[in-house]
Amino acid sequence: MNTLHSPGRASAPGPTLFPTPPAVCVAMHDVAPATWPRCARLLEAMAEVAPVPFTLLVVPNYHRLGDRVPDWYNQTLRAHLARGDEIALHGYAHQDEAPPPRTPRQWWRRRVMTAAEGEFSALDATAARNRLSAGLGWCRHHGWPVEGFVAPAWLLSPGTWQALEDLPLSYTTTASGFHLLHPHRGTDMPAIAYSTRSRARLGLSLAWHGLRPLPRAPALRLALHPGDADHPAVIRQLQRLLESLLRQRTALTKRAFAAALRGQRPPASGGAIPSARRPYAGSTSASESVASVAPSAEPASTSLG
Ligand SMILES: [Zn+2]
Repeated sequence: MNTLHSPGRASAPGPTLFPTPPAVCVAMHDVAPATWPRCARLLEAMAEVAPVPFTLLVVPNYHRLGDRVPDWYNQTLRAHLARGDEIALHGYAHQDEAPPPRTPRQWWRRRVMTAAEGEFSALDATAARNRLSAGLGWCRHHGWPVEGFVAPAWLLSPGTWQALEDLPLSYTTTASGFHLLHPHRGTDMPAIAYSTRSRARLGLSLAWHGLRPLPRAPALRLALHPGDADHPAVIRQLQRLLESLLRQRTALTKRAFAAALRGQRPPASGGAIPSARRPYAGSTSASESVASVAPSAEPASTSLG
């Protein structure tokens, strides 16, 4: 069931991947203090369907708004970790700050398709290593364990793949795949995501996900983005999708899925759906205080990825 992928550079074949149960990973992208009010709305909506574990993709200095961690944000993320959710690294600034694109193809990919948010799409190995190390150090400083990296817009330059070989991360993902590192092995894992940057994209996303049959791959991702929270139709469709997916799949954090691929049992917390319903972190007193102190304003658009 598992397929080896080449990420665009040669890699020696590694040990076999173990078959996993049919799985779905629910990932919240672009997590930062500025986006948290919208993230929390989406996580609450998913938790209404079932107490699934989440992978929270944090951005240390989202859109260069600052890397300070307010107490309420730290407490909220700690409550999620205690619930069994996972924190993974999602870039450093979530902005493509590499030298400008030089070909029409690069321009289309970096400026149009990803609204200049593909931070790791054009970095050389040194620049990628510096950003990844800074992000890991920031997470370590706050006491948040991290073993996964998801590049903004799922775009990894060859230099980024090279940098990942030297860093203490155990997995990364692309738009269509899940990749264990050290050594590199990949498997299919399509992502279900909505694009809400324009009315046209929103309409197309709703029509596409409303009509097409669910992908049949053994493992899927449900990729939530803060912008999804602004559209009740998207939230309702996401809830219906999750409900359908859970009829035949086990919800796992990406970390637990990585462990399953290695043939290890999922960790005691952060693995599959807990048998007894545990309180959703967003309903704890810690995050009730979030509502009163979290900023309600948020930077303009959060693009797919
Ligand atoms: Zn993102």
